[in-house]
Amino acid sequence: MAGNFFSIRCDDCENEQVVFGKVASVVDCAVCGSTLATPTGGEADFHGEVLEVVEAR
Ligand SMILES: [Zn+2]
Repeated sequence: MAGNFFSIRCDDCENEQVVFGKVASVVDCAVCGSTLATPTGGEADFHGEVLEVVEAR
């Protein structure tokens, strides 16, 4: 299975941002700079609400 993308809503500012499921480095919110995802070696650890899973094609 290829990596999926996840639509994450920032806890702090409610910005919605699409994040790759297996990030290699910490992903910050583009609006407020809050951490949205941290790498774990597998599927990222998300900080915020996962709104949607977007499957890679
Ligand atoms: Zn934010």
